Amino acid sequence: MIIVIKKGSTDEVVNHVVEKIKSAGLAVHISKGKERTIIGAIGDEGLLASIPLQAMPGVEKVMPILKPYKLVSREFRSEDSVVEVDGLKIGDKQIQIIAGPCSVENQDSLTAAAVEVKAGGASILRGGAFKPRTSPYDFQGLGEEGLKYLREAKKATGLPIISELMDPRDLDLMCDYVDILQIGARNMQNFRLLKDVGRTKKPVLLKRGLSSTIKELLMSAEYIASQGNSQIILCERGIRTYETATRNTLDLSAIPILKEETHLPIFVDPSHAAGRWDLVAPLAKAAVAVGADGLMIEVHTDPENALCDGAQSLKPTKFSILMEELRRVALAIDRTI
Ligand code: PEP
Ligand code: MN
Repeated sequence: MIIVIKKGSTDEVVNHVVEKIKSAGLAVHISKGKERTIIGAIGDEGLLASIPLQAMPGVEKVMPILKPYKLVSREFRSEDSVVEVDGLKIGDKQIQIIAGPCSVENQDSLTAAAVEVKAGGASILRGGAFKPRTSPYDFQGLGEEGLKYLREAKKATGLPIISELMDPRDLDLMCDYVDILQIGARNMQNFRLLKDVGRTKKPVLLKRGLSSTIKELLMSAEYIASQGNSQIILCERGIRTYETATRNTLDLSAIPILKEETHLPIFVDPSHAAGRWDLVAPLAKAAVAVGADGLMIEVHTDPENALCDGAQSLKPTKFSILMEELRRVALAIDRTI
């Protein structure tokens, strides 16, 4: 249920409504927009039947949220949400670019990549320390050592860092090091993990599962939001189809659909979608054109010898050229990079 509070109402008025809802046994989430405050009452709406919310002072209207996802829906918040990371605004007019290697390999190559992507215009550094590999015999990541290298690369460049969390047992450790927690495609429906990150205050980038629908992605975001963390960024990274020419099929239609359904920022990862470096640039440009708020791009200083995903990684020079092209696409749709 959404309770829209009249413009200019005092905190006292809002608190009175909040207390009523809580006393009926429902959870309350407050969204303070520029214009209005909206109260989301989440839980069994039948419990509110005996409370005349509509008649309470300050209440403008009371509406049911018809979608199964509540807090992340456009119905709950009509304005776009902006996630702030180290002063960067994600989901605002400026498109933010996350770039860096698939996995952290050593300090020198990571810092070199960080310096290069920053020079190209990236605003966030990526690098996996815990890697979700299909084979248990492939490189699994450096763990905490990798997180330390990321922290050093941040010191050297000032770029905030994002890295993937795979296991709730690593949550505190990850929170000590990273600015954004990444939930990978394979864990999109690890509900325990989602609830745990939902209890933190860290921004979370949630990637769409390999075989997940848009609705399932939004339900997973709702798991995080339901625990109190609304700093969520969604990421389309390609879904599994019958097509074998690419690693996955980038679902570009998901971006405008998600924009309609949710107020959360939407990113696109053309690298994992394509699995081929030569397709990264065209897909990245298309993603910006259809309204993505940001991109996640794999960049490696020596893709041929990368320990993970070299085939889809751009060399820094190619990344810089792409950034120039992306600036022109962004300009055409009245955005900046
Ligand atoms: C990644 O970004 O490192 C990754 C493993 O991506 P995905 O979860 O989309 O496969
Ligand atoms: Mn990768």
